[in-house]
Amino acid sequence: MNNTSTDIVILGAGYGGMMCVTRLSRMFRGDDRVRIHLVDRHTYHLLETRLHERAVREAEVVVPIARFLARRKNITFHLGEVTRIDLAQKRVELDFGRSETSDGTPRVVRYDHLVIALGSKTNFYQIPGLEEHAFQLKELEDSERIRAHTERMFAIAASESSLPKRKELLRIVIGGGGLTGVELATEIAQRFDALCEEFHIDPAEPEVVLLEASNRILPSLDGRQVIRSIEAMQAMGIQILTNTRVMGMEEQDGRLQVLRAPGEPLATRTMIWTGGIRISDLIRESGAETGTQGRVLVDDCLQLGDFPGVFAIGDNALAINPATGESVPTAAQFALQQGSLTADNLRRLVAGTPLKPYRPKVFGEVVSLGRHLAVGWAALPIGSRLRFLGFLGSLLKRAISERHLFFLWRERQNWTGHW
Ligand SMILES: Cc1cc2nc3c(=O)[nH]c(=O)nc-3n(C[C@H](O)[C@H](O)[C@H](O)COP(=O)(O)OP(=O)(O)OC[C@H]3O[C@@H](n4cnc5c(N)ncnc54)[C@H](O)[C@@H]3O)c2cc1C
Repeated sequence: MNNTSTDIVILGAGYGGMMCVTRLSRMFRGDDRVRIHLVDRHTYHLLETRLHERAVREAEVVVPIARFLARRKNITFHLGEVTRIDLAQKRVELDFGRSETSDGTPRVVRYDHLVIALGSKTNFYQIPGLEEHAFQLKELEDSERIRAHTERMFAIAASESSLPKRKELLRIVIGGGGLTGVELATEIAQRFDALCEEFHIDPAEPEVVLLEASNRILPSLDGRQVIRSIEAMQAMGIQILTNTRVMGMEEQDGRLQVLRAPGEPLATRTMIWTGGIRISDLIRESGAETGTQGRVLVDDCLQLGDFPGVFAIGDNALAINPATGESVPTAAQFALQQGSLTADNLRRLVAGTPLKPYRPKVFGEVVSLGRHLAVGWAALPIGSRLRFLGFLGSLLKRAISERHLFFLWRERQNWTGHW
C-alpha cells in the first residue's frame, strides 16, 4: 500500500452496507490513510425483514446509525439522498432536501472505491392506478401508514350501518403471494381478533384477500410446504386467489376498487402491493450494466466489470451462483454475506493482493405465518434439507433476526465497552 489516502464510499446502510462498513472500520482501525464514508437517506439501519410486524403492532425495526459511529472515528456518515452516481468521474451526488441546503446544489462525495448497496424499491409494473392508490411495504413509514390506516378503517366501520360499506372498510387486499405478501397477510389476519374486540365488530366480518397472478404462492418453497401453508392461512380466514392478476385500481364516486382478472372488481379501502421489486433508475443511469429488475451485473468478486474497485451488493447485485448457474436471490442473508466478503476484498484491493471470489452459502428460508408459526427449510451439511412448519419454525425466524441484532450489538459493545 502506498502512502496516499484512499476514500471508500458505501452507499446504503441496509443489511449489506452495514455489514460491509462495520467490518471495514474494524480492519482499518488506526490506519488514517483509509477513510470510510457511509451514505444513507435515514439516520437509522432498517430491519426490513421485520417490517410486516411493524405494520400491525409495536416491533423494534430500526437501529440508530449513530450508535455505531460513536467511537468509529474512521467512518464519516453522510445523511442524504443519493441522486446521482457518476462512475466515470468517481463521484456521488447527494441531496439533503430543501431545508438543509442554502442554495439547493447537491453535495459531492468523491471515492476511490465504491460499494453500491442501495437495496430495492417496490415495482408497480405500471399497473394503472396501483402506485397512486395502493400501500407498499418497503420503509418504516409504509409499515406505520398501513397500521394507522387499518385501525382507522375498523374505527370507521364501528359506526357504519351500510353493509356494503362495512364490507369494503373491513376488506384488506394484498397483491403478491411471495414471502412479503404471505407474512403480511398472516400478521394482519391475526390482528383482526383484537381489532374486532376493540371496535365491537363481528369477527366474521373482516377479511384478507391475497391475490397472486401465478398458479402458486411462496414459489421458493416445495409443493407440500405450500399446501400446508395454504391450509394454515385458510384456518386464519385468509382467502387465497391464485391465477388472479391485478389489472389496476380505480376510484369511482370516491370509492376504490381493485380490478382483477378473472373476477369482478373488489371494493376495498385497503390495497397493499407486495408483487415485485426493482432497482432505482439512478443505478442504471450511472453507466453500470444492468440485468433483470435493474440489478447490476457483477463479476465473481461482485465488482462491476467495466469499473474495477466498484462493487454492488445485496438486492443491487445480479450475482451468479457458480454452483447452480442461477442468479442469487434478493434476500437479507445474501446481502450480509456479500457485505462481509466485499469488506475483505476492499482490504485486499488496498493491499494490492488478489480478490476472493463470491461463493454464496444458502442456509435455508423461513417464512412466518403470523406470530407463532413459520414454514421453511434449513440446509443440512450433507446437502439435504430439513423442512418444517410450526412453532419451532417461528422460533428459528426470531433467532435469525436476533442474530443480526446481536451482531450489531456485539460490534458496538466491542468497540465502546457499552451498548
Ligand atoms: C417485509 C419484508 C420482509 C422480508 N423478509 C425477508 C426474510 O425473511 N428473509 C430475507 O432474507 N429477506 C427478506 N426480505 C428481503 C430483504 O429485506 C432484502 O433482500 C434486504 O433488505 C436487501 O438488503 P440490501 O442491503 O441490499 O438493501 P436494504 O437493506 O434495503 O438497504 C438499502 C439502504 O439504502 C438506503 N437507500 C436506498 N436508496 C437510497 C438513496 N437514493 N439515497 C440514500 N440512501 C438510500 C436505504 O435507506 C437503506 O438503508 C424482506 C423484505 C421485506 C420488504
